[in-house]
Amino acid sequence: MIIDGHTRTCGLIGNPVEHTMSPMIHNTLAENLGHDLVYVPFHVEEGRLTDAVKGAFALNVLGLNVTVPYKSQILSDLTEIDELAEKIGAVNTLVRREDGFKGYNTDMPGLYRAMCSEGIRIEGEEVILLGAGGAARAVAFLCAFRNVSKVYMLNRSLEKAEAVAAEVNEKTGRSCICPMALSDYPKLPDHKFLAIQATSVGLYPDVDKVIIEDEAFYRKIHTGYDLIYKPSQTRFMKLVRAQGGKAYHGLKMLLYQGVIAYELWNNVSVPEEMALQVYEAMKEKMGMKEADER
Ligand code: NDP
Repeated sequence: MIIDGHTRTCGLIGNPVEHTMSPMIHNTLAENLGHDLVYVPFHVEEGRLTDAVKGAFALNVLGLNVTVPYKSQILSDLTEIDELAEKIGAVNTLVRREDGFKGYNTDMPGLYRAMCSEGIRIEGEEVILLGAGGAARAVAFLCAFRNVSKVYMLNRSLEKAEAVAAEVNEKTGRSCICPMALSDYPKLPDHKFLAIQATSVGLYPDVDKVIIEDEAFYRKIHTGYDLIYKPSQTRFMKLVRAQGGKAYHGLKMLLYQGVIAYELWNNVSVPEEMALQVYEAMKEKMGMKEADER
């Protein structure tokens, strides 16, 4: 592309940002849509977040993504926060406004769009949600907003699951999130569940680890969705498949959180075929095979 005086800048702030796939998503979209836009990662040191946001605004940056460890910390640096992001308490996308940046959360709608594109429905389902960290919190909100009938939130630290469940139930006016200690998984009812794996167990390089080993647990799962995408076949996914369930990794969630951010920055709707072209490029970069998709 030719960068000139009209080129708009978007980027990612976080620490670390060196292994991010986001430039590939946004620069490919910009190229395919013919937008004069460039996306770059910005490594922001601890203690410099406020300076980074102010500096980006002063430099006429159009929009930013926000990653670990700043998704919650950034809330106080924004002039406006979208209602959904405020409820979730985490922002991963900043959109330029007249007097500062407005914060959004596109992780949650990104996961929803990814699931829909795989034909996974969550409305009315009973869900097992593994984890109670930042990602699991957003998934719990998604489930509550999308009328999941019940969510069993299993976490190693029960207090954390209890706190997240209480907050999500209160803020959504539902009482569908049911916290449980991870070790209590044998008490789950006999049922076929959609299970969402939102812990960091099994993430590269610890690819042989899995949150629960017991085959009996996996017999209760008809579909397993692991938010991890590196490796592209986690042990969790393998164990789900070994018991006859369908299993998916989290790369499409990453794709769609980016696509939704791009749409917010540019006020466009990205055609599905174009999103899927970007997805193919992401898979190639990850060295993924077709077998990882089933
Ligand atoms: P957090 O650090 O906020 O949460 C980690 C979670 O994992 C907690 O529930 C923690 O339990 C649990 N956990 C960690 N180690 C263990 C262990 N040894 N045994 C049992 N439980 C454990 O991380 P995030 O919520 O931000 O991210 C979770 C995962 O989701 C990551 O792998 C990340 O890569 C993925 N992710 C994927 C995205 C995508 O676009 N596909 C987007 C965001 C995240 P405890 O509370 O007891 O410590």
